[in-house]
Amino acid sequence: MGNGPDTTRRKIVQLLSGSALLAGPVAGAQANIVLSGFRMVQQENVMLHFDLSFAAGNADLFTLTEPDRLVIDLPNTSKAESIQTEQFSQGAVKGIRFGSHGPEKLRVVVDLNRPVSASFRFVPRQGGQRLIVDLGVKGNLELAQYKARVEEPASLRNVIVAIDAGHGGKDPGAVGQRATREKDITLKVARRLFNRLKDQDGITPVMIRNKDTYVGLRERIRIARTKHADLFVSLHADAFKRKAAKGSSVYTLSLKGATSEAASWLAQKENEADELFGNVALDGLSQDLKQTLLDLAQNSTLEASLEAGADVLTELKKIGAVHKPNVEQANFGVLKSPDIPSFLVETAFISNLQEERKLNSPRFQEQLAIAIQKGVTGYLNKRAPEGTYLHASTG
Ligand SMILES: [Zn+2]
Repeated sequence: MGNGPDTTRRKIVQLLSGSALLAGPVAGAQANIVLSGFRMVQQENVMLHFDLSFAAGNADLFTLTEPDRLVIDLPNTSKAESIQTEQFSQGAVKGIRFGSHGPEKLRVVVDLNRPVSASFRFVPRQGGQRLIVDLGVKGNLELAQYKARVEEPASLRNVIVAIDAGHGGKDPGAVGQRATREKDITLKVARRLFNRLKDQDGITPVMIRNKDTYVGLRERIRIARTKHADLFVSLHADAFKRKAAKGSSVYTLSLKGATSEAASWLAQKENEADELFGNVALDGLSQDLKQTLLDLAQNSTLEASLEAGADVLTELKKIGAVHKPNVEQANFGVLKSPDIPSFLVETAFISNLQEERKLNSPRFQEQLAIAIQKGVTGYLNKRAPEGTYLHASTG
């Protein structure tokens, strides 16, 4: 008794409208919230993520039976056209339908293959909120679960992505058969990547160089550190004496490079090692223990670098040829930050006449920027650092 759709719905509405905790501007009757993103995430349960352009302040969830459905009504909300309505099917979810219902209500119908006991919460994201619906699959609805939990937005920050345009100034990098200079291409792609990332919620891109200037490799690492970068993306264009060589590649630091770097940090860079471990007092520690700490930091950085690099390579495969099918590892000086996941993209071969032409085309430059942006975003959706909007909003 009392668990029929209508009763359930009433209870949920009551609980939600009684909550004054929601952060941000609560949408009034005139507000037009845009659902700008939707994802289905398989964790322990299936989770649905709805990205809303304002603090929604309200949502209305109820279940229906025969067939089992979960209905989510988002008041004053419209759906961005970019949201695909293709078949989503995972776990208890058979499919998802979006429909406008009344003048200013977006109705999401989740078709289910078994009953669920959904719970949900709002989390802040830059410029709005994310509604996360967790489709637990058991028993009766536990209304106690229906409490919108809002974290303190003030304590959250953006993820900082450092964009490193390779070469510059007196160092032209590789030069193509038609005299295209690597340093010019890397800066153009870097600026495009910057423009894309700066429009993205939860991300602040920073440029290591934004002019035709020479910046040494160590200096690039130092700039990334002073900007508190969480991720470091270095852009290059490949060259090889065999003119037919073509395609994109992604590199991360080799373990050998990392190990020798760790040793040199310990030998000569005590100051930076101190900075790296922040308030951990290194002075009293044995050399062995310092080594272990540095190894730990660097192991997890290498792992994260590989993951980020792989996500970018996956996207690059969609826009053209890749030179090697997997992320490669090499001893690149610019990738040697012990604590900032870093990878290097060889966008294409500037030594290949056809690819030199592509590298000069604004269209291909933009395709590269989009692919790298998608890869970076995919990685950050899984591995954003704690304390960031992206970490909070991806649960
Ligand atoms: Zn280069």
